[in-house]
Amino acid sequence: VRVDIAIIGTGPGGVSAAITSKVRNKSILLFGESTLSSKIEKASSILNYPGMPNTSGASLSSAFREHLQALDIIVTEDKVKAVYAMGDYFSIQGASQMYEATSVIIATGANVTKPYEGELEFLGRGVSYCATCDAALYKDREAIVVATSNKEEDEVRFLAEVASKVYYVPTYKGEIDMPPNVEIVEGKPQKILGQLKADTLVLDTKELKAFGIFILRESIAADKLVPGIKFENNSIWVDKNMATSIAGCFACGDVTGKPYQYIKAAGEGNVAALSAVSYVDNIKRNK
Ligand SMILES: Cc1cc2nc3c(=O)[nH]c(=O)nc-3n(C[C@H](O)[C@H](O)[C@H](O)COP(=O)(O)OP(=O)(O)OC[C@H]3O[C@@H](n4cnc5c(N)ncnc54)[C@H](O)[C@@H]3O)c2cc1C
Repeated sequence: VRVDIAIIGTGPGGVSAAITSKVRNKSILLFGESTLSSKIEKASSILNYPGMPNTSGASLSSAFREHLQALDIIVTEDKVKAVYAMGDYFSIQGASQMYEATSVIIATGANVTKPYEGELEFLGRGVSYCATCDAALYKDREAIVVATSNKEEDEVRFLAEVASKVYYVPTYKGEIDMPPNVEIVEGKPQKILGQLKADTLVLDTKELKAFGIFILRESIAADKLVPGIKFENNSIWVDKNMATSIAGCFACGDVTGKPYQYIKAAGEGNVAALSAVSYVDNIKRNK
């Protein structure tokens, strides 16, 4: 099924874009988490959101969730791994399945993580951000997975069903329950090495070797998420209509740059949605 507009991210930008798209009668997919964004939840006191004097992040988040519910908008809890422009539609690779949309709105927030040494050099050549997507390549082979949160554990278990062995390097704390062919390795990743293809992860404790290395983080840099998109000052380049350099792809919120503010993200989400609505209407008219 192809929806009109796919919105990636459940912060104020994505929530606002989803609301406007739905009010404009478009079919939508909203990717993210049903708890919305941790950046909303974490704020202890918010003084500058119109209509909500001195609110808290938890209250704002709950108001957003109520608004989504009132419009029957459900959150698709899948982590988007890549968005491919296919001409008059987009193919969206989730961790568990593929989706299609005529237009896409990127609302994934700011990405502040620094890549490991060698990560970008070997991306697509032994380094990947999606273990479920590439699992089939690991039949009877060994894999290394670095993960920044326990939300990635399902993906690791899935990979372990196919791979002969998985070296799992969690960079977070807590109990981890994995199948017997997953070895949990302690240590801090330092760099990725290889020849034609990456095959070694150097930790501060030891070196691991395998057929390939997965790096599973909470967010993927937007220029890796949408190959070919114009990036400027570590943000997605947009025009006044929140259009990116790719036709049909719009962006809003922290991912388009500073200032990092709720109302800026929500305002841009509204503009991005209205632009996506016109784009979709145009495509339909010309069919
Ligand atoms: C502690 C704290 C206090 C703050 N206080 C204020 C304040 O008082 N006033 C103010 O205006 N601003 C404040 N901010 C800034 C504000 O949080 C951000 O500007 C705002 O949340 C940005 O919204 P966004 O929609 O762009 O992205 P975010 O809120 O960052 O949300 C992005 C969402 O996208 C999801 N996502 C990312 N990648 C993917 C993917 N590949 N697939 C699926 N989902 C994905 C993430 O999980 C996340 O839920 C504060 C921030 C913090 C951290």
